[in-house]
Amino acid sequence: MKSRHLICRFIIGWLLLGWMAACSGPESTSPLRMQSDAHAGKRVVLIVLDSLMDETLQEALRGGKLPALSFLMKHGRYETGMVSSFPTMSVTIDSTLLTGTYADQHRIPGLFWFDVPHRRYVNYGSSLVEIMKVGPHSVLTDSLFALNNEHLSKQTPTLHETLAARGMRSASINALIYRGPSPHTLEVPKTVAAAASGSERYQTFGPPLFSLGAFASIDPSSRRQHAHSWQKLGMNDAYSVHEFRYLVEQGQLPPFTLLYLPGNDQDIHRFGPAHPRGLAKADKQLQNLLNAFGSWEKALEDIIWIVIGDSGQAAMAADRSEEAIPIRQTLDAYRVAGLEEIRPEDQLVICVNERMAYIYLLDPQLAPDAVAEALRKEPRIDVIAWKDAEGKIRVLSGLADREGELVYARAGDTTDPYGQTWSLEGNLRLLDLTVDYSGGRVSYGDYPDALARLYGALHSQEGSFLVATSAERSEFRSEGTYVHKGGGAHGSLHKLDSLVPLLTVGTEERPAHLRIKDLRDWILRLLDAGTPQQSRTDSAHW
Ligand SMILES: [Zn+2]
Repeated sequence: MKSRHLICRFIIGWLLLGWMAACSGPESTSPLRMQSDAHAGKRVVLIVLDSLMDETLQEALRGGKLPALSFLMKHGRYETGMVSSFPTMSVTIDSTLLTGTYADQHRIPGLFWFDVPHRRYVNYGSSLVEIMKVGPHSVLTDSLFALNNEHLSKQTPTLHETLAARGMRSASINALIYRGPSPHTLEVPKTVAAAASGSERYQTFGPPLFSLGAFASIDPSSRRQHAHSWQKLGMNDAYSVHEFRYLVEQGQLPPFTLLYLPGNDQDIHRFGPAHPRGLAKADKQLQNLLNAFGSWEKALEDIIWIVIGDSGQAAMAADRSEEAIPIRQTLDAYRVAGLEEIRPEDQLVICVNERMAYIYLLDPQLAPDAVAEALRKEPRIDVIAWKDAEGKIRVLSGLADREGELVYARAGDTTDPYGQTWSLEGNLRLLDLTVDYSGGRVSYGDYPDALARLYGALHSQEGSFLVATSAERSEFRSEGTYVHKGGGAHGSLHKLDSLVPLLTVGTEERPAHLRIKDLRDWILRLLDAGTPQQSRTDSAHW
Protein backbone atom coordinates (compact mmCIF):
# COMPACT_ATOMS: atom_id res chain seq x y z
CA MET A 1 0.00 0.00 0.00
CA LYS A 2 2.72 2.52 1.06
CA SER A 3 4.48 2.56 -2.32
CA ARG A 4 1.13 2.88 -4.21
CA HIS A 5 0.25 5.85 -1.97
CA LEU A 6 3.68 7.36 -2.61
CA ILE A 7 3.29 6.92 -6.34
CA CYS A 8 -0.14 8.56 -6.41
CA ARG A 9 1.15 11.47 -4.33
CA PHE A 10 4.05 11.78 -6.72
CA ILE A 11 1.89 11.64 -9.87
CA ILE A 12 -0.53 14.27 -8.53
CA GLY A 13 2.41 16.34 -7.42
CA TRP A 14 4.12 15.96 -10.82
CA LEU A 15 1.00 17.03 -12.70
CA LEU A 16 0.44 19.95 -10.38
CA LEU A 17 4.08 20.86 -10.70
CA GLY A 18 4.00 20.86 -14.46
CA TRP A 19 0.88 22.98 -14.69
CA MET A 20 2.07 25.53 -12.13
CA ALA A 21 5.52 25.49 -13.65
CA ALA A 22 4.14 26.40 -17.04
CA CYS A 23 2.22 29.29 -15.53
CA SER A 24 4.54 30.78 -12.96
CA GLY A 25 8.14 29.74 -13.67
CA PRO A 26 10.74 32.38 -14.52
CA GLU A 27 11.60 32.77 -18.21
CA SER A 28 14.79 30.74 -18.75
CA THR A 29 15.69 31.88 -22.15
CA SER A 30 19.10 32.84 -23.27
CA PRO A 31 18.32 35.96 -25.34
CA LEU A 32 19.09 35.34 -29.01
CA ARG A 33 22.14 37.43 -29.85
CA MET A 34 21.83 38.20 -33.54
CA GLN A 35 25.06 36.87 -35.02
CA SER A 36 26.30 36.03 -38.47
CA ASP A 37 28.45 32.98 -39.06
CA ALA A 38 31.60 33.10 -41.17
CA HIS A 39 30.63 29.67 -42.49
CA ALA A 40 30.17 30.01 -46.25
CA GLY A 41 29.23 26.43 -47.07
CA LYS A 42 25.91 24.64 -46.64
CA ARG A 43 24.61 24.38 -43.09
CA VAL A 44 23.86 20.97 -41.67
CA VAL A 45 20.63 20.08 -39.85
CA LEU A 46 20.69 16.68 -38.15
CA ILE A 47 17.24 15.45 -37.13
CA VAL A 48 17.10 12.53 -34.71
CA LEU A 49 13.64 10.97 -34.99
CA ASP A 50 13.40 8.70 -31.96
CA SER A 51 12.73 5.04 -32.85
CA LEU A 52 12.49 5.72 -36.60
CA MET A 53 12.50 2.29 -38.26
CA ASP A 54 12.36 1.26 -41.93
CA GLU A 55 9.46 -1.14 -41.25
CA THR A 56 7.21 1.58 -39.77
CA LEU A 57 8.28 4.10 -42.40
CA GLN A 58 7.43 1.80 -45.32
CA GLU A 59 4.07 1.03 -43.68
CA ALA A 60 3.28 4.74 -43.28
CA LEU A 61 4.50 5.59 -46.80
CA ARG A 62 2.12 2.98 -48.19
CA GLY A 63 -0.67 4.89 -46.42
CA GLY A 64 0.53 8.23 -47.82
CA LYS A 65 0.97 9.50 -44.27
CA LEU A 66 4.42 11.07 -44.59
CA PRO A 67 4.41 14.04 -47.01
CA ALA A 68 7.51 15.68 -45.48
CA LEU A 69 9.63 12.53 -45.21
CA SER A 70 8.65 11.37 -48.68
CA PHE A 71 9.52 14.83 -50.05
CA LEU A 72 12.97 14.60 -48.46
CA MET A 73 13.37 11.00 -49.68
CA LYS A 74 12.49 12.10 -53.22
CA HIS A 75 15.29 14.69 -53.11
CA GLY A 76 17.82 12.63 -51.17
CA ARG A 77 19.39 9.25 -50.51
CA TYR A 78 17.60 6.86 -48.16
CA GLU A 79 19.60 4.03 -46.61
CA THR A 80 18.69 1.38 -44.06
CA GLY A 81 20.96 -0.67 -41.83
CA MET A 82 22.89 2.07 -40.00
CA VAL A 83 24.32 0.63 -36.76
CA SER A 84 23.38 2.26 -33.46
CA SER A 85 25.40 2.23 -30.23
CA PHE A 86 25.03 -0.15 -27.23
CA PRO A 87 23.09 -0.34 -25.01
CA THR A 88 20.47 0.96 -27.47
CA MET A 89 19.30 3.62 -25.01
CA SER A 90 19.09 7.28 -26.04
CA VAL A 91 21.66 8.70 -23.61
CA THR A 92 24.32 6.20 -24.76
CA ILE A 93 23.40 6.57 -28.44
CA ASP A 94 23.44 10.39 -28.35
CA SER A 95 26.82 10.30 -26.59
CA THR A 96 28.15 8.11 -29.41
CA LEU A 97 26.61 10.43 -31.99
CA LEU A 98 28.25 13.59 -30.59
CA THR A 99 31.62 12.08 -29.62
CA GLY A 100 32.10 9.45 -32.35
CA THR A 101 33.00 6.85 -29.71
CA TYR A 102 31.39 3.94 -27.91
CA ALA A 103 30.73 3.77 -24.16
CA ASP A 104 34.26 2.59 -23.31
CA GLN A 105 35.33 6.11 -24.22
CA HIS A 106 32.36 8.45 -23.69
CA ARG A 107 31.52 6.61 -20.38
CA ILE A 108 27.71 6.85 -20.49
CA PRO A 109 26.81 3.19 -19.75
CA GLY A 110 23.04 3.49 -20.16
CA LEU A 111 19.85 5.07 -18.79
CA PHE A 112 20.24 3.12 -15.55
CA TRP A 113 23.59 1.98 -14.09
CA PHE A 114 25.41 1.61 -10.78
CA ASP A 115 28.33 3.77 -9.73
CA VAL A 116 30.41 1.08 -7.99
CA PRO A 117 33.07 3.36 -6.42
CA HIS A 118 30.35 5.55 -4.83
CA ARG A 119 27.98 2.56 -4.25
CA ARG A 120 24.96 4.42 -5.68
CA TYR A 121 22.42 4.08 -8.48
CA VAL A 122 22.58 6.48 -11.43
CA ASN A 123 19.21 6.84 -13.14
CA TYR A 124 18.57 9.53 -15.78
CA GLY A 125 14.81 9.03 -15.70
CA SER A 126 13.43 5.53 -16.40
CA SER A 127 10.09 4.35 -14.96
CA LEU A 128 8.19 6.41 -12.40
CA VAL A 129 8.51 3.69 -9.77
CA GLU A 130 12.27 3.36 -10.32
CA ILE A 131 12.59 7.17 -10.07
CA MET A 132 10.63 7.12 -6.83
CA LYS A 133 12.69 4.31 -5.32
CA VAL A 134 16.10 5.53 -6.43
CA GLY A 135 15.07 9.06 -5.34
CA PRO A 136 13.71 11.97 -7.41
CA HIS A 137 16.49 14.24 -6.14
CA SER A 138 19.34 12.12 -7.50
CA VAL A 139 17.43 11.45 -10.73
CA LEU A 140 16.87 15.18 -11.28
CA THR A 141 20.48 16.08 -10.48
CA ASP A 142 21.95 13.23 -12.51
CA SER A 143 19.80 13.89 -15.56
CA LEU A 144 19.97 17.70 -15.51
CA PHE A 145 23.58 18.15 -14.40
CA ALA A 146 25.86 15.14 -13.91
CA LEU A 147 25.04 13.45 -17.23
CA ASN A 148 26.62 16.15 -19.42
CA ASN A 149 28.92 17.85 -16.93
CA GLU A 150 30.44 14.94 -14.96
CA HIS A 151 29.64 11.53 -16.43
CA LEU A 152 30.23 12.27 -20.14
CA SER A 153 34.01 11.88 -20.50
CA LYS A 154 36.06 15.05 -20.88
CA GLN A 155 38.42 12.97 -23.06
CA THR A 156 35.80 12.79 -25.81
CA PRO A 157 35.01 16.24 -27.20
CA THR A 158 31.49 16.65 -28.53
CA LEU A 159 30.67 17.92 -32.00
CA HIS A 160 29.55 21.21 -30.43
CA GLU A 161 32.91 21.62 -28.70
CA THR A 162 34.95 20.73 -31.77
CA LEU A 163 32.96 23.12 -33.97
CA ALA A 164 33.32 25.91 -31.40
CA ALA A 165 37.08 25.29 -31.33
CA ARG A 166 37.00 25.91 -35.09
CA GLY A 167 34.95 29.08 -34.77
CA MET A 168 31.59 27.61 -35.69
CA ARG A 169 28.36 28.06 -33.75
CA SER A 170 25.90 25.21 -33.29
CA ALA A 171 22.48 24.55 -31.81
CA SER A 172 21.01 21.73 -29.75
CA ILE A 173 17.24 21.38 -29.48
CA ASN A 174 15.78 18.84 -27.03
CA ALA A 175 18.78 16.51 -27.15
CA LEU A 176 19.68 14.83 -23.84
CA ILE A 177 23.37 14.99 -24.64
CA TYR A 178 24.44 18.50 -25.55
CA ARG A 179 27.72 19.43 -23.87
CA GLY A 180 29.32 22.51 -25.42
CA PRO A 181 31.45 25.57 -24.64
CA SER A 182 28.76 28.06 -23.60
CA PRO A 183 27.41 28.45 -20.07
CA HIS A 184 23.66 28.11 -19.64
CA THR A 185 21.29 28.02 -16.69
CA LEU A 186 18.72 25.25 -16.49
CA GLU A 187 15.71 26.64 -14.66
CA VAL A 188 13.77 23.93 -12.86
CA PRO A 189 10.14 24.90 -12.27
CA LYS A 190 9.86 25.69 -8.55
CA THR A 191 7.36 23.00 -7.77
CA VAL A 192 9.30 20.33 -9.65
CA ALA A 193 12.43 21.31 -7.71
CA ALA A 194 10.46 21.26 -4.45
CA ALA A 195 8.94 17.85 -5.13
CA ALA A 196 12.33 16.41 -5.94
CA SER A 197 13.94 18.55 -3.18
CA GLY A 198 16.39 19.54 -5.84
CA SER A 199 17.90 22.84 -6.94
CA GLU A 200 15.92 25.36 -8.94
CA ARG A 201 18.93 26.15 -11.11
CA TYR A 202 21.70 24.11 -12.61
CA GLN A 203 24.64 25.74 -14.34
CA THR A 204 25.50 23.68 -17.39
CA PHE A 205 27.47 23.99 -20.62
CA GLY A 206 26.02 23.59 -24.06
CA PRO A 207 26.30 24.98 -27.57
CA PRO A 208 25.65 28.75 -28.04
CA LEU A 209 22.06 27.99 -29.09
CA PHE A 210 20.61 25.64 -26.53
CA SER A 211 17.15 24.37 -25.79
CA LEU A 212 15.94 21.64 -23.44
CA GLY A 213 12.21 21.58 -22.88
CA ALA A 214 10.88 23.65 -20.00
CA PHE A 215 14.40 23.92 -18.54
CA ALA A 216 15.94 26.13 -21.20
CA SER A 217 14.54 27.62 -24.40
CA ILE A 218 15.72 29.89 -27.21
CA ASP A 219 12.32 31.42 -27.97
CA PRO A 220 10.58 32.76 -24.83
CA SER A 221 7.14 31.72 -26.09
CA SER A 222 8.05 28.06 -26.57
CA ARG A 223 7.52 27.25 -22.94
CA ARG A 224 4.12 28.86 -22.65
CA GLN A 225 2.88 27.04 -25.73
CA HIS A 226 4.52 23.62 -25.58
CA ALA A 227 6.12 22.88 -22.18
CA HIS A 228 3.30 22.11 -19.76
CA SER A 229 3.47 18.98 -17.58
CA TRP A 230 0.96 17.20 -19.81
CA GLN A 231 3.33 18.03 -22.67
CA LYS A 232 6.20 16.18 -21.02
CA LEU A 233 7.58 19.54 -19.87
CA GLY A 234 8.53 20.42 -23.45
CA MET A 235 10.24 17.16 -24.35
CA ASN A 236 7.94 16.85 -27.38
CA ASP A 237 8.09 17.31 -31.16
CA ALA A 238 5.96 20.48 -31.28
CA TYR A 239 8.33 22.22 -28.86
CA SER A 240 11.39 21.07 -30.81
CA VAL A 241 10.02 22.35 -34.13
CA HIS A 242 8.80 25.61 -32.59
CA GLU A 243 12.32 26.35 -31.38
CA PHE A 244 13.79 25.42 -34.76
CA ARG A 245 11.30 27.63 -36.66
CA TYR A 246 12.24 30.52 -34.39
CA LEU A 247 15.90 30.20 -35.42
CA VAL A 248 14.91 30.16 -39.10
CA GLU A 249 12.55 33.12 -38.73
CA GLN A 250 15.23 35.10 -36.88
CA GLY A 251 17.79 34.23 -39.57
CA GLN A 252 19.90 32.62 -36.89
CA LEU A 253 20.21 29.00 -38.05
CA PRO A 254 23.89 28.21 -37.28
CA PRO A 255 26.22 25.99 -39.37
CA PHE A 256 25.15 22.91 -37.37
CA THR A 257 21.87 22.11 -35.63
CA LEU A 258 20.95 18.93 -33.78
CA LEU A 259 17.16 18.69 -33.56
CA TYR A 260 15.65 15.89 -31.47
CA LEU A 261 12.09 14.63 -32.07
CA PRO A 262 11.30 12.37 -29.06
CA GLY A 263 7.55 11.75 -29.66
CA ASN A 264 7.60 8.58 -31.77
CA ASP A 265 9.37 6.60 -29.03
CA GLN A 266 6.32 6.49 -26.78
CA ASP A 267 3.97 5.46 -29.59
CA ILE A 268 6.20 2.57 -30.62
CA HIS A 269 6.59 1.48 -26.97
CA ARG A 270 2.82 1.44 -26.65
CA PHE A 271 1.63 0.04 -29.96
CA GLY A 272 4.67 -1.80 -31.32
CA PRO A 273 7.11 -1.30 -34.23
CA ALA A 274 4.56 -1.68 -37.04
CA HIS A 275 2.37 1.16 -35.77
CA PRO A 276 2.82 4.31 -37.91
CA ARG A 277 0.85 6.79 -35.77
CA GLY A 278 3.88 8.26 -33.99
CA LEU A 279 5.72 8.66 -37.28
CA ALA A 280 2.73 10.36 -38.92
CA LYS A 281 2.61 12.82 -36.00
CA ALA A 282 6.35 13.49 -36.32
CA ASP A 283 5.93 14.04 -40.06
CA LYS A 284 3.29 16.67 -39.33
CA GLN A 285 5.87 18.55 -37.32
CA LEU A 286 8.44 18.12 -40.11
CA GLN A 287 5.93 19.67 -42.51
CA ASN A 288 5.59 22.57 -40.07
CA LEU A 289 9.38 22.83 -39.98
CA LEU A 290 9.80 22.88 -43.79
CA ASN A 291 7.05 25.51 -44.03
CA ALA A 292 9.27 27.88 -42.07
CA PHE A 293 11.37 28.35 -45.20
CA GLY A 294 8.47 29.68 -47.24
CA SER A 295 8.57 26.68 -49.59
CA TRP A 296 9.89 23.17 -49.20
CA GLU A 297 12.14 23.65 -52.19
CA LYS A 298 13.72 26.69 -50.50
CA ALA A 299 14.44 24.53 -47.46
CA LEU A 300 16.70 22.42 -49.64
CA GLU A 301 18.67 25.35 -51.01
CA ASP A 302 21.63 25.80 -48.67
CA ILE A 303 21.05 23.14 -46.10
CA ILE A 304 22.20 19.53 -45.87
CA TRP A 305 19.40 17.59 -44.15
CA ILE A 306 20.25 14.42 -42.28
CA VAL A 307 17.40 12.42 -40.73
CA ILE A 308 18.25 9.37 -38.62
CA GLY A 309 16.63 6.99 -36.16
CA ASP A 310 18.51 6.52 -32.90
CA SER A 311 17.50 2.91 -32.25
CA GLY A 312 14.92 0.41 -33.44
CA GLN A 313 12.44 -1.31 -31.15
CA ALA A 314 11.65 -5.02 -31.02
CA ALA A 315 8.03 -6.19 -30.86
CA MET A 316 7.18 -7.50 -27.37
CA ALA A 317 5.01 -10.54 -26.62
CA ALA A 318 1.45 -9.68 -25.64
CA ASP A 319 1.48 -12.12 -22.75
CA ARG A 320 3.24 -10.56 -19.71
CA SER A 321 4.62 -13.85 -18.38
CA GLU A 322 6.21 -14.56 -21.76
CA GLU A 323 7.37 -10.99 -22.25
CA ALA A 324 8.91 -10.01 -18.93
CA ILE A 325 12.03 -11.88 -17.72
CA PRO A 326 11.97 -11.73 -13.87
CA ILE A 327 15.75 -11.38 -13.52
CA ARG A 328 15.68 -11.04 -9.70
CA GLN A 329 14.05 -14.46 -9.62
CA THR A 330 16.61 -15.85 -12.05
CA LEU A 331 19.29 -14.73 -9.59
CA ASP A 332 17.42 -15.58 -6.39
CA ALA A 333 20.31 -17.78 -5.23
CA TYR A 334 22.04 -14.48 -4.41
CA ARG A 335 21.21 -11.52 -2.15
CA VAL A 336 20.15 -8.87 -4.65
CA ALA A 337 20.07 -5.25 -3.45
CA GLY A 338 16.85 -3.26 -3.48
CA LEU A 339 16.51 0.10 -5.20
CA GLU A 340 15.83 1.98 -1.96
CA GLU A 341 18.63 0.48 0.12
CA ILE A 342 21.92 -1.36 -0.52
CA ARG A 343 22.69 -3.46 2.55
CA PRO A 344 26.28 -4.41 3.45
CA GLU A 345 25.47 -8.07 2.92
CA ASP A 346 24.03 -7.59 -0.57
CA GLN A 347 25.93 -9.53 -3.26
CA LEU A 348 24.41 -8.27 -6.52
CA VAL A 349 22.93 -5.06 -7.91
CA ILE A 350 20.73 -5.15 -11.04
CA CYS A 351 20.08 -2.17 -13.33
CA VAL A 352 17.59 -2.87 -16.12
CA ASN A 353 17.67 -0.95 -19.45
CA GLU A 354 14.66 -2.62 -21.05
CA ARG A 355 16.19 -5.41 -23.23
CA MET A 356 19.58 -5.10 -21.57
CA ALA A 357 20.67 -5.38 -17.94
CA TYR A 358 23.82 -4.65 -15.97
CA ILE A 359 24.46 -7.07 -13.08
CA TYR A 360 27.09 -5.82 -10.62
CA LEU A 361 29.04 -8.06 -8.21
CA LEU A 362 29.39 -6.34 -4.83
CA ASP A 363 30.61 -9.50 -3.09
CA PRO A 364 34.34 -9.94 -3.91
CA GLN A 365 33.99 -13.67 -3.20
CA LEU A 366 31.64 -14.00 -6.14
CA ALA A 367 32.96 -15.04 -9.57
CA PRO A 368 31.23 -13.62 -12.66
CA ASP A 369 31.16 -17.00 -14.40
CA ALA A 370 29.09 -18.44 -11.54
CA VAL A 371 26.54 -15.66 -11.95
CA ALA A 372 26.69 -16.18 -15.72
CA GLU A 373 25.81 -19.85 -15.24
CA ALA A 374 22.76 -18.81 -13.18
CA LEU A 375 21.65 -16.41 -15.92
CA ARG A 376 22.17 -19.09 -18.53
CA LYS A 377 19.36 -21.14 -16.97
CA GLU A 378 16.82 -18.59 -18.26
CA PRO A 379 16.10 -19.57 -21.90
CA ARG A 380 14.97 -16.01 -22.78
CA ILE A 381 18.37 -14.53 -21.92
CA ASP A 382 20.40 -14.13 -25.10
CA VAL A 383 23.89 -12.63 -24.67
CA ILE A 384 25.60 -12.96 -21.27
CA ALA A 385 29.05 -11.34 -21.17
CA TRP A 386 31.71 -10.15 -18.78
CA LYS A 387 35.35 -9.13 -18.69
CA ASP A 388 37.63 -11.79 -17.18
CA ALA A 389 40.75 -11.29 -15.07
CA GLU A 390 42.95 -11.11 -18.21
CA GLY A 391 40.71 -8.43 -19.72
CA LYS A 392 39.29 -10.82 -22.30
CA ILE A 393 35.57 -10.80 -22.95
CA ARG A 394 33.70 -14.05 -22.30
CA VAL A 395 30.32 -14.65 -23.85
CA LEU A 396 27.69 -17.27 -23.04
CA SER A 397 24.03 -17.55 -24.03
CA GLY A 398 20.84 -18.88 -22.44
CA LEU A 399 19.26 -19.57 -25.84
CA ALA A 400 18.56 -23.20 -26.59
CA ASP A 401 20.86 -23.70 -29.55
CA ARG A 402 23.77 -21.66 -28.25
CA GLU A 403 26.19 -23.99 -26.45
CA GLY A 404 29.75 -23.35 -25.36
CA GLU A 405 31.55 -20.04 -24.94
CA LEU A 406 33.05 -17.30 -27.11
CA VAL A 407 36.16 -15.50 -25.91
CA TYR A 408 37.48 -12.40 -27.65
CA ALA A 409 39.91 -9.53 -27.22
CA ARG A 410 40.97 -6.45 -29.10
CA ALA A 411 43.89 -6.15 -31.48
CA GLY A 412 43.97 -9.70 -32.83
CA ASP A 413 44.58 -11.09 -36.31
CA THR A 414 40.97 -10.94 -37.51
CA THR A 415 39.65 -7.71 -39.02
CA ASP A 416 36.02 -6.64 -39.20
CA PRO A 417 34.28 -4.43 -41.82
CA TYR A 418 35.12 -1.30 -39.76
CA GLY A 419 38.86 -1.97 -39.66
CA GLN A 420 38.75 -3.07 -36.01
CA THR A 421 40.91 -6.10 -35.23
CA TRP A 422 40.09 -8.96 -32.83
CA SER A 423 41.27 -12.29 -31.53
CA LEU A 424 38.41 -14.78 -31.45
CA GLU A 425 38.08 -18.29 -30.04
CA GLY A 426 35.13 -20.55 -29.28
CA ASN A 427 31.54 -20.61 -30.51
CA LEU A 428 31.15 -17.77 -33.02
CA ARG A 429 27.41 -18.39 -33.20
CA LEU A 430 26.95 -16.77 -29.78
CA LEU A 431 27.37 -13.40 -31.53
CA ASP A 432 26.42 -14.73 -34.97
CA LEU A 433 29.90 -14.03 -36.36
CA THR A 434 31.22 -15.43 -39.64
CA VAL A 435 34.98 -15.73 -40.03
CA ASP A 436 36.78 -16.15 -43.33
CA TYR A 437 40.00 -17.61 -41.94
CA SER A 438 41.85 -17.44 -45.27
CA GLY A 439 41.37 -13.66 -45.39
CA GLY A 440 41.43 -13.07 -41.66
CA ARG A 441 38.06 -11.30 -41.93
CA VAL A 442 35.08 -11.45 -39.58
CA SER A 443 31.58 -10.27 -40.49
CA TYR A 444 28.46 -9.62 -38.44
CA GLY A 445 24.95 -11.08 -38.65
CA ASP A 446 22.13 -10.59 -36.11
CA TYR A 447 24.33 -8.44 -33.85
CA PRO A 448 25.76 -5.53 -35.89
CA ASP A 449 29.30 -4.36 -34.94
CA ALA A 450 28.81 -6.61 -31.88
CA LEU A 451 32.44 -6.97 -30.80
CA ALA A 452 33.12 -3.22 -30.44
CA ARG A 453 29.67 -2.38 -29.08
CA LEU A 454 29.78 -5.08 -26.40
CA TYR A 455 33.39 -4.21 -25.61
CA GLY A 456 32.24 -0.59 -25.21
CA ALA A 457 29.57 -1.41 -22.60
CA LEU A 458 31.89 -3.77 -20.70
CA HIS A 459 34.54 -1.00 -20.44
CA SER A 460 32.09 1.85 -19.77
CA GLN A 461 32.45 1.94 -16.01
CA GLU A 462 34.36 0.62 -13.02
CA GLY A 463 33.66 -2.51 -11.00
CA SER A 464 33.00 -6.16 -11.66
CA PHE A 465 29.78 -6.63 -13.63
CA LEU A 466 28.04 -8.60 -16.35
CA VAL A 467 25.94 -7.54 -19.30
CA ALA A 468 22.87 -9.57 -20.28
CA THR A 469 20.48 -9.04 -23.19
CA SER A 470 17.03 -10.51 -23.73
CA ALA A 471 15.85 -12.66 -26.62
CA GLU A 472 13.27 -11.48 -29.14
CA ARG A 473 9.76 -10.64 -27.86
CA SER A 474 11.06 -10.20 -24.29
CA GLU A 475 12.65 -7.66 -21.96
CA PHE A 476 13.90 -7.69 -18.37
CA ARG A 477 11.74 -6.99 -15.33
CA SER A 478 13.21 -6.14 -11.94
CA GLU A 479 12.05 -3.96 -9.04
CA GLY A 480 9.84 -1.10 -10.33
CA THR A 481 10.52 -1.84 -14.02
CA TYR A 482 7.89 -0.69 -16.48
CA VAL A 483 7.41 -3.39 -19.17
CA HIS A 484 5.89 -3.00 -22.64
CA LYS A 485 3.81 -6.13 -23.23
CA GLY A 486 2.30 -6.16 -26.70
CA GLY A 487 4.28 -3.00 -27.53
CA GLY A 488 7.92 -2.30 -28.31
CA ALA A 489 11.19 -2.14 -26.38
CA HIS A 490 14.88 -1.54 -27.08
CA GLY A 491 18.22 -1.74 -25.29
CA SER A 492 19.77 -4.90 -26.74
CA LEU A 493 22.60 -5.68 -29.16
CA HIS A 494 20.23 -7.36 -31.64
CA LYS A 495 19.62 -5.92 -35.14
CA LEU A 496 15.93 -5.33 -34.25
CA ASP A 497 17.04 -2.69 -31.71
CA SER A 498 20.25 -1.67 -33.49
CA LEU A 499 19.62 -0.92 -37.18
CA VAL A 500 18.18 2.44 -38.19
CA PRO A 501 17.63 4.47 -41.36
CA LEU A 502 19.82 7.29 -42.64
CA LEU A 503 18.23 9.87 -44.95
CA THR A 504 20.59 12.41 -46.50
CA VAL A 505 19.54 15.39 -48.65
CA GLY A 506 21.91 17.90 -50.20
CA THR A 507 25.25 16.06 -50.45
CA GLU A 508 26.82 13.05 -52.21
CA GLU A 509 29.36 12.72 -49.39
CA ARG A 510 28.88 9.61 -47.24
CA PRO A 511 30.05 8.62 -43.76
CA ALA A 512 33.13 6.34 -43.61
CA HIS A 513 30.88 3.53 -42.38
CA LEU A 514 27.13 3.17 -41.90
CA ARG A 515 27.28 3.59 -38.10
CA ILE A 516 26.02 6.38 -35.82
CA LYS A 517 29.57 6.33 -34.46
CA ASP A 518 30.90 7.58 -37.82
CA LEU A 519 28.45 10.49 -38.28
CA ARG A 520 30.49 12.98 -36.24
CA ASP A 521 33.53 12.88 -38.53
CA TRP A 522 31.28 12.92 -41.59
CA ILE A 523 29.48 16.07 -40.35
CA LEU A 524 32.82 17.76 -39.65
CA ARG A 525 33.83 16.97 -43.21
CA LEU A 526 30.51 18.30 -44.54
CA LEU A 527 31.04 21.52 -42.65
CA ASP A 528 34.47 21.61 -44.20
CA ALA A 529 35.89 21.90 -40.77
CA GLY A 530 38.90 20.12 -42.13
CA THR A 531 39.92 16.68 -41.03
CA PRO A 532 39.05 15.89 -37.42
CA GLN A 533 41.89 16.36 -34.86
CA GLN A 534 43.46 13.04 -33.86
CA SER A 535 43.39 14.38 -30.26
CA ARG A 536 41.37 11.56 -28.77
CA THR A 537 42.51 7.92 -29.04
CA ASP A 538 40.10 6.83 -31.77
CA SER A 539 39.10 3.22 -31.06
CA ALA A 540 38.79 2.41 -34.76
CA HIS A 541 42.58 2.20 -35.11
CA TRP A 542 43.14 -0.89 -32.93
ZN1 LIG B 1 12.25 4.21 -25.68
